[in-house]
Amino acid sequence: MRDNPIVPTIDLAADGVRHGFLRLPYSRDDSAWGSVMIPLTVVKNGSGPTALFAGANHGDEYEGPLALQELALELDPARIQGRVIIVPFMNYPAFRAGLRTSPIDRGNLNRTFPGRPDGTVTEKIADYFARTLLPEADIVLDFHSGGRTLDFVPFASIHHLPDAALQARAHAAMAAFGAPYSMMLREIDAVGMFDTIAEKMGKVFVTTELGGGGTATARSVAIARRGCRNLLIHAGILQGEIERRDSVMLDMPSTDCFIFSEDDGMIEPRVDLGQQVRSGDELARIWPVDRTGKPPRSYRATMDGLLVARHFPGLIKPGDCLAVLAVEVGSRQ
Ligand code: ZN
Repeated sequence: MRDNPIVPTIDLAADGVRHGFLRLPYSRDDSAWGSVMIPLTVVKNGSGPTALFAGANHGDEYEGPLALQELALELDPARIQGRVIIVPFMNYPAFRAGLRTSPIDRGNLNRTFPGRPDGTVTEKIADYFARTLLPEADIVLDFHSGGRTLDFVPFASIHHLPDAALQARAHAAMAAFGAPYSMMLREIDAVGMFDTIAEKMGKVFVTTELGGGGTATARSVAIARRGCRNLLIHAGILQGEIERRDSVMLDMPSTDCFIFSEDDGMIEPRVDLGQQVRSGDELARIWPVDRTGKPPRSYRATMDGLLVARHFPGLIKPGDCLAVLAVEVGSRQ
C-alpha cells in the first residue's frame, strides 16, 4: 500500500517533550501547496509502554480536547516511563469548524477507518492513525461526548470482545479511568470505527461519552482529566496513585436500548439523564410545530433501565436518536 502523505514535524521516538504537528498536504484555493496542521505532543522517557490519547475524533466534542490540551502542557517526562502520544484534535478540520464531520469532505472520521492513504483528507487521517500510530500503541484512549445533538451521563466504555483476555484488560483500564459510569457499549453500526480496528489489532481501547450538547461542563472536564491521569498510572507509564471512584457498571443488552424518533417536532423530555425507568414509562413527547390543537406523540421506554443518553437540541426529526437506555449491573471501585 502507498505511504501516507502525513508527516510529523517532530521526532515521535525521541525522549523529552515535543510539541508539533501532523502535517497533511492539502492543496486548495487559499493555499496552493498548503497543509492541514494537526497539533500533537509526544512525551517520552526511556523504554516502556506507549499510550495514544486522542480527542475530537468528532469535532464538536470538547472534554477530550480540553483534558488533552492540559495534559500536553503539563505532563513531565521525568515522572513517566514510556511514551504518551497526545492528539487533542484528531479530525482537526471538523474541530476548527465546531462540527462533527469535516467541512472539507464531510468525512465522519469515526466511520472512516481504516481509511485510505490516497483518499480524502478524512480518509488520510484515519489511515495515518490505523497504520502508523495504532501499531505503536499499547493502550488507546479515544475521547467522545455527545456533540451538538446528543447528551450522555458521563461514562467510560469498552465493547464485548471475542478475545476474553483482551476484554478483561480493557475492562480493567475502563475501571481505572474512574468515570461515574462504566459501560459495556453496544454500537448501532461498528463498521469504520476507530474502536473496531484498534480492538482487532489487540489494543486495549477505552472510549468515553462524557456529556454533550456541543460544549463541556466543569464536572465533565474534571472527569476527563482524572481519567487521563488514572489511565496513565494504570498503564504503568505515570508515577502516582490511581484516584479510585465509585462507578456504576452499565450494560446495553440489546438493540432495544436505542429509541429513534419517527416525528418532526419539538421534544419535551419526561425523564432526565440518569433517571431509572420501567418499560412503558414515557421518556419524551414530541409536539407538533406546524399547528396548534394537535396532541404530542409519546415515546416510551422499551425496557427497564437507566436513561444514559438523550437527543439534545429542542427540535427533533425522524431518524434522530431520541434516547438510549442501559441496565445497571452493579457498582464497583
Ligand atoms: Zn463522538
